[in-house]
Amino acid sequence: MISFEQAQRAIETNSPRLKKRIIKTQDALGFVLAENVFAPINLPVDDNSAMDGYVLSSRETRNARPGKPLIFKIRGDIKAGDPQTRTLKTQETCRIMTGALIPRGADTVIPKETAIVRDNNCLVIDRFIPSGNHIRYKGEEVRKGSLVLAKGFLMHSATIGILAMLGKDKVTVFDKPKVSLITTGNELASPGVALRPGQIYDSNSLMIQSALENAGIHPLKTCRVKDNAKLLKRSIGMALKESDVLILMGGVSVGKYDYVKDVLKETGVKTVFWKVNQKPGKPLYFGKRGETLIFGLPGNPASVFTCFYEYVFPALRRMSGFRHPYLHREVAEIRAEVKPDQQKIVFLKAKTTVARNKKKVMPLGRQGSHMISSLQDANCFVVIPPSLRTVKKGQKVWIDLLPIGNGAL
Ligand code: AMP
Ligand code: MG
Repeated sequence: MISFEQAQRAIETNSPRLKKRIIKTQDALGFVLAENVFAPINLPVDDNSAMDGYVLSSRETRNARPGKPLIFKIRGDIKAGDPQTRTLKTQETCRIMTGALIPRGADTVIPKETAIVRDNNCLVIDRFIPSGNHIRYKGEEVRKGSLVLAKGFLMHSATIGILAMLGKDKVTVFDKPKVSLITTGNELASPGVALRPGQIYDSNSLMIQSALENAGIHPLKTCRVKDNAKLLKRSIGMALKESDVLILMGGVSVGKYDYVKDVLKETGVKTVFWKVNQKPGKPLYFGKRGETLIFGLPGNPASVFTCFYEYVFPALRRMSGFRHPYLHREVAEIRAEVKPDQQKIVFLKAKTTVARNKKKVMPLGRQGSHMISSLQDANCFVVIPPSLRTVKKGQKVWIDLLPIGNGAL
């Protein structure tokens, strides 16, 4: 049996990066950037005003005093979008709007709120105005040719905004993996139908389908198969033809009717590992056929959930091009004593909060691997390695943050 770290590493070394493709910026949400983006222009494009106000030459204000004001003639308006055609003459000013280009002969702006205007056409200056006030200089935010966005990061609202600001209507991203889901079990019934004796509702299919959607991946297919080797073989064969990743749930343990591993073997899938020294999710299976990854998640819902986020999710993110594919790990003070397993790594469903400027974490109730009903409050796992002998209240522990949860709401 291998360790959590060995399992993660084995998956990482077997996860290929997918192909790159060029898409429209407007369609890039949720993709990962596959190119370094260098600025094709300066930002700001040209020197412009940061305020609505009056634009003038600082040097011409050097003799102005409260008791000895100077008068500047107001020579009309400069609006945002006007080309720079103006040249100010001695003791001239213009009304200037936010974002409008600075005219030649001017180098400073007086905000409208502090300007003294007389007769609607004269600006009274009663003090020295330093050069550069309220001016946004060409290239001060981004120099033409400099690196603005780095490969390997998610395209979100802000990065799409940045591409637009640079005038880029296309962007190179990594493809997203094509994923199929197969749930196994004779006992499973769809939510909405009455349970027959012995049946339970299939929660895993919708849970993992939603986890994929949440990660920006629309599964190709979700199907449910009885514990029947022949039927299973047909479903697996079909799914393998068109998927980059196949996720199987249930039927991967040591039960007489757990056919998944045997059928995968018959279908030509090579086992990379089976069983990880962990709780929940010990019988986790990982295999490969060609470039396709196959995960077999033990069917208990909390095992499925934990194995998905600790193993499948990082693999999908790595394939999608993420530079940092794993759950973000932090340290927090645990609010309750926990008994470590000392044999295997344990993942506890938990909620982290900040209290009195300290990051805290509270393990939730109902930790059994067949239980997910306490997950409404969860936003992380507490990770207890087998090396820990005790975990006392107030002790620092690792937490792996989940990309779900209600946060502070
Ligand atoms: P298995 O991994 O198939 O041995 O299943 C382990 C436990 O998880 C059994 O109690 C199953 O009934 C349960 N289980 C399996 N698949 C699902 C599912 N899709 N939804 C809810 N529980 C499941
Ligand atoms: Mg089963």
